[in-house]
Amino acid sequence: MKNNHHDDRLDMGIQCRSGCKLFVVGGAGYIGSHMVKQAHNVGYEVIAIDNLVTGYRDAVLYGKFEYCDILDARRLTQLFTQYKPDAVIHFGGYSIVSESVRDPYKYYYNNVAGSLNLFKVMVDTGCKKLIFSSTAAIFGDPEYLPIDEAHIKKPINPYGKSKLMVEEMLKDFDSAYGLKYISFRYFNAAGHDPEGELSERHDPETHLLPIVIRAANGERGPVNVFGVDYDTFDGTCIRDYIHVNDLVNAHLKGLVYLNNKSNMSTEINLGNNNGFSVKEVIQKIKDIMNKDFEVIDEERRDGDPPALIASNKKAKKELSLSPDYVSLESIIKTLA
Ligand code: UDP
Repeated sequence: MKNNHHDDRLDMGIQCRSGCKLFVVGGAGYIGSHMVKQAHNVGYEVIAIDNLVTGYRDAVLYGKFEYCDILDARRLTQLFTQYKPDAVIHFGGYSIVSESVRDPYKYYYNNVAGSLNLFKVMVDTGCKKLIFSSTAAIFGDPEYLPIDEAHIKKPINPYGKSKLMVEEMLKDFDSAYGLKYISFRYFNAAGHDPEGELSERHDPETHLLPIVIRAANGERGPVNVFGVDYDTFDGTCIRDYIHVNDLVNAHLKGLVYLNNKSNMSTEINLGNNNGFSVKEVIQKIKDIMNKDFEVIDEERRDGDPPALIASNKKAKKELSLSPDYVSLESIIKTLA
């Protein structure tokens, strides 16, 4: 296959058939824009679809861009009929836990009703391969760590509930209409495009790593630590950080998985099998950047589970994943 952007991964079985069309819904967002770049680099014809509510038009650096809200069935039908994509990757969800607690309607309307709308248009127009962005938040307070796919699902915030509802819908869409899917449960996506073309742009920024990096660069005031009385070794929340490019590569492998007719629809956790507390993350960034800044202990934030660490066994087995960024240091270095 001809490809201008040669990439080692072409040799690892993740290249697509020539002319393979991919819709990246939410392609102007943080993970979506990294997905667009990598999919383009391995030969997909990429069409990014976004309503630009949280995404940025100028983050879509490759392929085509089409403005569309997933709640707009007419526009979606027009786009699916026009392009006839082979597969869809659906990143088009709101994803801030604390916001979902304050404004659940926003989460159920976009994340659940919007996804339902998208899946119906897919089925009606004959597109039956999907990768869905789910989340570790579907598990709630974990009963054991690391969290494997069989762990009980008891989400403790509307964000996690909205994503679990979609996972349930997908099982029924597979049985009834043959929609083949993978639901990937992301743990904490972090880091940037190592070539520096893309970044994480949330407004306002709520995520720990970019906030701490900004504090270290003197671009903002103190870092607040939301909760120091959790039942963890230092009282702060533990999260499993996975580099955005490792996440994106899992999706490329996921597309190959879906192309293999004998593979079943499935759910897979995506993390590094390794957790870091909020205070550990702050200290690591101070050490790596050799900067100091003020840190203030605060009340807990609504909806935060104490610890989320992924088991990566299934991801390794089903997709032969081998992450490029295994240490927190290597992730931080793409940000610093
Ligand atoms: N956090 C914090 N201070 C901040 C931002 C986040 O203490 O300014 C904590 C947050 O409470 C959570 C962890 O860092 O325990 C990761 O939060 P983030 O928003 O990055 O991701 P989430 O786990 O909510 O998806």
